[in-house]
This record gives sequence, structure tokens and C-alpha cells, in this order.
Amino acid sequence: MSERIAVFPGSFDPVTIGHVSIVERALPLFDRIVLAIGVNTTKKYMFPVEQRLGWLRATFVGHKQVEVMAFEGLTADLCKRMKARYIVRGLRNSTDHGSERSIALMNHVLAGVDTIFLPALPEHAHISSTIVRELIANKADVSAFVPGAVRP
Ligand code: ADP
Repeated sequence: MSERIAVFPGSFDPVTIGHVSIVERALPLFDRIVLAIGVNTTKKYMFPVEQRLGWLRATFVGHKQVEVMAFEGLTADLCKRMKARYIVRGLRNSTDHGSERSIALMNHVLAGVDTIFLPALPEHAHISSTIVRELIANKADVSAFVPGAVRP
């Protein structure tokens, strides 16, 4: 039987406990999950991709099913290369739902990939990498919002 492989794409700038919860809850559904940091040359990031990769690797070090990588280009093309038939994404609110729905439909058209959405747990619904970056920029303590491996 072919492996059930999922790609979880994102910026992970930085990875938060919201992302970790989505990965942990997706693990029983798949044989392998590829955490894929999308590198978009026109987008500004707070942390270099090597640091974001390192934090993801350290966070999931005990999980053999989890692979961490960076990629350029379309998520649909990455899914084809990785032979992944699924994408995992988290939904925090109706704004996420609105934008994610059209991306998911497009990825299905482009690569025949289905997106599996997991709802953010209520205690994580307010956490975003954007807000964590804002806190870091203002020298606030973010340890409650990021996994232990992240030491910005
Ligand atoms: P992107 O730049 O692609 O939005 P992010 O790293 O910000 O990348 O998010 C990647 C995915 O993780 C998205 O599906 C997003 O909805 C989900 N996500 C982000 N924060 C949370 C959270 N607190 N709880 C659940 N899912 C989340």
C-alpha cells in the first residue's frame, strides 16, 4: 500500500505552539508529515530560514514520521515531488477559512491534492507568528506561545 504523505506548508516565522498542536493532531492520520518552509524571495521574514528549520527540527526531534525542509515555488509542485496526496493546514477563524478554501481548491486542481483542515484549539486560536514577532520586536516574553526549542 502506498504511504500516506502530507505536506504542512508555512512560514513558521517562528513556529508556535499552535503549529505544534496541528502537527501532533495530524500525526495519527498520516505515515509521514513534511513540514515545509516556503521561501518566497519577495517576502520579508524575521528569522533566517536556517534558524526556522533548526527550531522545527529540534521541536520534532523525537518524531520519526516528521520531516523538515525548505522549498521554493508552488506547494502543489512540492506535493508532486514528495508524492504527497494531502496538505495539512490549521484554521483559527473565518478569515483563515476564507483564504484557505480557495488555495485548497486551487491545489486540488493543480496537483489533485486534498487539504485536511484541523481547527485550532480554543486555547491557541489567538496565537499567530505575526503576533509573536510583534512581541519579540518589543522585547516581550514569548515562552508561553512557542515550543521550548525556540529561543529567539
Ligand atoms: P503562512 O505564512 O503560510 O500562513 P504560517 O506559518 O503563519 O504560514 O501558518 C501555517 C499554518 O499554520 C496555517 O494553516 C495557519 O492557519 C496555521 N496556524 C498558524 N497559527 C496557528 C494556531 N495558533 N493554531 C492552529 N493553526 C495555526
